[in-house]
Amino acid sequence: MSPDQALPEPALLASPYDLTCENKECKRYGTVAQGARCPDCGLRNHLVLPPDEQAPWVPAAKASAGTRPAPVAPIGVGEMLSRTLFGGFWALVTLGLLIAALAGVSNGHAGALLGIPAAALTGLYSAYIFRGGRFRMIFW
Ligand SMILES: [Zn+2]
Repeated sequence: MSPDQALPEPALLASPYDLTCENKECKRYGTVAQGARCPDCGLRNHLVLPPDEQAPWVPAAKASAGTRPAPVAPIGVGEMLSRTLFGGFWALVTLGLLIAALAGVSNGHAGALLGIPAAALTGLYSAYIFRGGRFRMIFW
């Protein structure tokens, strides 16, 4: 099929709410398409939007790109302090439980072994807080 061969059907320019092929390499680019995929290039057809509805998110994305480079919300100082306080507290509890368990076992207290699963739990909880977990508690 040579490129200058006439189209078998007249190519209608796509108007709003028509489906069109968005492949710029394709000879059906910008013309009315039928079905989910372009019969020529096999790429997915797209719905043509009226000019006033076209990509309303583009100006917003451009505006925020300069001011806020990170896609995730930045962590505030209070949040960092809270994570350090709560996460650090449970990390210390974990360490204390491990030391107590090892000291207890080395002194012949087999029951001190229970401190190891407890330390594992507090360690997991500490990691959960550092990753930003919402449920935080502390004791003294
Ligand atoms: Zn196409």
